[in-house]
Amino acid sequence: MSNPEIAIPSRAPAATTADDTVMPFEVASLDLRGRVVRLGPVVDQILARHAYPQPVAKLLGEAVVLTVMLGSALKIDGRFILQTKTDGPVRMLVVDFTAPGKVRACAGFDKDRVAAAIAAGKADAGALLGHGHLAMTIDQGPDMNRYQGLVALAGGSLEDAAHEYFHRSEQIPTRVRLAVAEELRAVQGGASHRWRAGGILLQFLPKSPERARVADLDPGDAPEGTQVHTLQEDEAWVEGRALVSTVEDVELIDPALSSERLVYRLFHEPGVRVFHGSEVRAECSCSCSRASVEAMLKSFSQNDRDHMVEDGKISVTCEFCSANYVFAPGEVEAKAG
Ligand SMILES: [Zn+2]
Repeated sequence: MSNPEIAIPSRAPAATTADDTVMPFEVASLDLRGRVVRLGPVVDQILARHAYPQPVAKLLGEAVVLTVMLGSALKIDGRFILQTKTDGPVRMLVVDFTAPGKVRACAGFDKDRVAAAIAAGKADAGALLGHGHLAMTIDQGPDMNRYQGLVALAGGSLEDAAHEYFHRSEQIPTRVRLAVAEELRAVQGGASHRWRAGGILLQFLPKSPERARVADLDPGDAPEGTQVHTLQEDEAWVEGRALVSTVEDVELIDPALSSERLVYRLFHEPGVRVFHGSEVRAECSCSCSRASVEAMLKSFSQNDRDHMVEDGKISVTCEFCSANYVFAPGEVEAKAG
């Protein structure tokens, strides 16, 4: 892994921030590393296009931030896919990040159950997701092994799931904060809604692995009388974790607070260094094109294609970006000839 290039050795934090960016940072004196994700038009484009019920959109927005946060950290060519599969009103979330910065996302949910959850005032992330799992997949192409990390979802948030994953699988002390909100702005003739999202990831990466030990999570169903595992956590991590827990949702999405100012506000005492970031854009994959859809239709049997004809045409809609591809029944087979 190569070290990101240092932006400028020492200067005041920038007042302005660019939306749709990821900014890595380092607090060397505490062995902390992290990244700040700030999404404006990207998350608005994704969520506005789907027009899901508000709590579903917010939840998918959180998943987009988490995916961008983790996917952009991987020094790979390929895709990073985050997917939930659960028994709650939102049965599925899929966010697909293609290096270096393309993201797309969609949700699968039960309309009636989501409406009931909203009516009952129980539409927080944990209630919408329910129980199941979250899978994170790294796909580097057909000739490479796929890597998959799995973590249980048990009525908690995506932040909880991320903490659980880094604790159990990576064994890296990690804190994640995710925030999504709709910004209301007065415009001529009413108000305009725009989605904004942001997040911060903080990890403790000391040179000596001994220092990275953290106490086990609650053993839950351990038999009575079991000694609960207690451990003195490293002071540097305790400090970092405490600082990041003070971050308010609004600080993660406020366009007036730059990513640099946010990390400076948190870590000016120990000192913080920021690195050149990367940009993110909302874009569907290369498999979302008329040619790809046509190739897919050609791979079906004539019988299957016949069953797809409705109102005299075959219509295929992309779940991610809602692009619609329409073919005349004879069009696909004629070319297949
Ligand atoms: Zn698409």
